[in-house]
Formats: sequence, C-alpha cells, structure tokens
Amino acid sequence: MKIVLKPGRYTFIMRLQVPSRCILILLDGLGDRSFESLDGKTPLEAAKTPNLDRLAECGVNGLFHADRVGRALPSENAHFAIFGYGPDEFPGRGYLEAVGAGIEVSDDDVAILAHFVSVKEEGGKLLLRRDKPEFSPQEIEELTRHIASYDAGGIILSFTHTGRHEGILTLSGSVSPFITDTDPFIRGRYLMEPLPHAHAVDDPVAQRSARALKDYLLWCYNELSSHPLNEKRTADGKLPLNAIATQRAGKYKEVQPFQERWGLRGLSISSGIVYWGLCRFVGIEILKDKDTGNIAADFTRRMETALGSLNDYDFIHVHTKAPDTAAHDEGAGAKKKAIEEIDKGLGEVIDRLLADREILTIVTSDHSTPSESVLIHSGEPVPIAIMGKGVRRDGVESFDEVSCAAGALGFVQGEDLMHLVLNHLDRVKLRGAMDTPEDQPYWPGPFEPFILE
Ligand SMILES: [Zn+2]
Repeated sequence: MKIVLKPGRYTFIMRLQVPSRCILILLDGLGDRSFESLDGKTPLEAAKTPNLDRLAECGVNGLFHADRVGRALPSENAHFAIFGYGPDEFPGRGYLEAVGAGIEVSDDDVAILAHFVSVKEEGGKLLLRRDKPEFSPQEIEELTRHIASYDAGGIILSFTHTGRHEGILTLSGSVSPFITDTDPFIRGRYLMEPLPHAHAVDDPVAQRSARALKDYLLWCYNELSSHPLNEKRTADGKLPLNAIATQRAGKYKEVQPFQERWGLRGLSISSGIVYWGLCRFVGIEILKDKDTGNIAADFTRRMETALGSLNDYDFIHVHTKAPDTAAHDEGAGAKKKAIEEIDKGLGEVIDRLLADREILTIVTSDHSTPSESVLIHSGEPVPIAIMGKGVRRDGVESFDEVSCAAGALGFVQGEDLMHLVLNHLDRVKLRGAMDTPEDQPYWPGPFEPFILE
C-alpha cells in the first residue's frame, strides 16, 4: 500500500521550531519609478505605510524579480514563476483567462484575448483611435451578439464577453496558438497583421489559423462599422466601437500540479479572472473575491479569509490588484493613495498575523508598473520582506524599493521564492537525498515504507 503523507499535518506534528504555513501577500504592480511630483520618490516610498514598515522591521528584506532584472513581465508570467513554474510550461494568457472566466475551451482549442477598440481607416490600414472608448453595457451586449460566431473555412471563431471591453476569442478546429498579436497597445499606431510565429512560419496549421483570425477581424470591422448602433454613436459625436484587437494566444499544456511539485496545499484569494485561471491551471484552489471600490476593506477581508483557512492549506496567496490598476488608470499620486489604503487594511489584521507563530509571512509583488510611461510594465525589481519564527532579522525599517535593497536577504529571482518558502517551513530537501523515485524539491516526499519480507 502506498502511504501518502498529508504535508501540512505532518509538518505540524513533527516540527514546532519554524512556521508550518505560508501567507504570500502579493501587491500587484507595486514597484515603480521615481517622480518629481513625489519629491523624487516612488509611490511606495512616498506613501505612509506604518504596517508594511512594521512587517519589514520584523524580518529579512531584499529585492525580488520574477525573471531577470530589466525584463518586463505581465502578471500571469510573473505569477507563474512565483508559483515555481518555468516559461516553457506557460500555456498563454488567452488560455488562462478562458479557464478563469469559465469558458468551455477544449485541449485542442486556441484562446486569445480580444477587446473592442475604436479605429479609423488610413491608407488601407486601421489606426487605433482609442483603446477602450466609453460605452454602455447594453451597447457591448448588442455588439457582442453581432460578432459572437464565425466560420472561417472550417475554423470556428467564437467571441465571449468577459467584462468591460474585454472578451475571449476561441478558435476551434485544426488550430495553432503561434499567431502574433494585432493589438498595438498605443493610440495613434496601426493595428498589426496576424502572422505565424517565426518558428511556425512554414506550419500550414499556424498559417491557416492566422488567416482565419484575419478573416474574422475583417468581418468584425465591416459588421461593426455598419452597425446602426455605431452609426448613431458617430452621429452623437462619440467614437464607434468598430473593431476587435487581439493579443496573447494560448492553448492547454500539461503541467505538474502545485501540490505534487511543492508538497504544499495551495489556495489563492484574488479578484481577477487571469489569477483564477492560472491557479486552476496549476492546481491551486481559488476563492473568488470581488473588488468593491474600498481597497482597505477588500484587503482586510482577503487577509481574514486567509487567516481562517490555515487549517486546510499550507500556502495561501493573497492578492490585490489595486497598485497596478491605480498606476495604469490614474498615475503616481493615485498609486500612492492605493498603497496607503492597502496598508490601512493590513493594520486591521497585522497583530493577529504577527502573533501566530505558525505563519511565515511574505510580502512582495509580481512586477513594477510605471505610473507614467508608454510601457505596460517595467523591469525594475520589487521589494520583498519575509518574516516568521526563525527568519533572520535585518535593520531595514521601511518597506520600499530602496530601503529593502539594504536588507540581508539580497536578491531573489523567479522560482527561488518557492524554494525559500520550503526552506523557512523546514520542508526543503537536502540535495542528493532520494526518499522517493521522483527527485522532488520538498521533504519528506510521499515515500514508500520499508517492507519486511
Ligand atoms: Zn501584475
């Protein structure tokens, strides 16, 4: 009989010298650049954050990058690395959002992010006038119905609205995910031609998939441009929602489940479909939360849920998108305020968090989001603080991009974070020890006891 050890319980019984659970507090897009308007500080440096600072004071601090310094990672790729998965295992954001939104997507389908934009014709090309023009939910609903399904010579394309301007386009049939984006991101640039990736340029399936996408987008442009609703918008002096822009195609891949890889039962508490999809994909359970507009209350509620889930999980990811959203939508001042709201929310639970000797707490971010830049994300590292029983303590007194660089942790990269988690939970395996046929990074593994014969 094979004995399967329950990792959490076993840890709890066997070792009381270190924490048995980890709460990873992930403040999305927290890192930033310095701004004159903030006296040369980053929004995090400028923000009053007594509670985050208290966490930094209690532990060890450093800098983190989910990949390598200078690389700009989207949230999903950064989270993928944080959870201990390599770039080759990544299925593409389109697929993850489809899974997160509960859209039926088979293992052979391709899923692509797709959203409404406003374009104008210029010399046979389509110029992006506005990425996300204002709209009413009824308008999006009506237009979505109009472009919901299309048959491109045997490849079926289906558009499902997922929220605001956004949706998922699925391609079914003999299809390839190796198709380039058509979304130029920036106003005043032309939409781009969907092409096969360089390595798939001679692959007829990739060629046909790119062609099918082109046919669908042309059809959408013609249908939407002549739709009475858009004619009325134009007459009213509004920009028409007359095209669809696409990016980041994805397709299912097989990956090792999180618990099998790290020996930890994972839970994620977050509010975005891409996080739900990503966690479901790697086998981390999800608790779907909502953003109510009250950043502090949302964060407190998520932390309380985490504190109440410690009997059932060994690794809990608590996520807030607030800093990233503020940076994208409103700029550095708003991001500073959003960070202060998170800190206020943390203040409601910090005593319980620090009093519980079974908890290893990690605070960090997935990437930097520059509040004023043409870049979506940027390549600077983010601060990281780790605290809990047995964790070293340094002299850092402030949780920010500059102060944490002087900490004793140094620089942490990518999946090293998961190894650090195992280490501080006394679960990291001594290299070379083989308690199971699989050389897993955690210890003890689900070993077979010696049988007397
Ligand atoms: Zn992010």
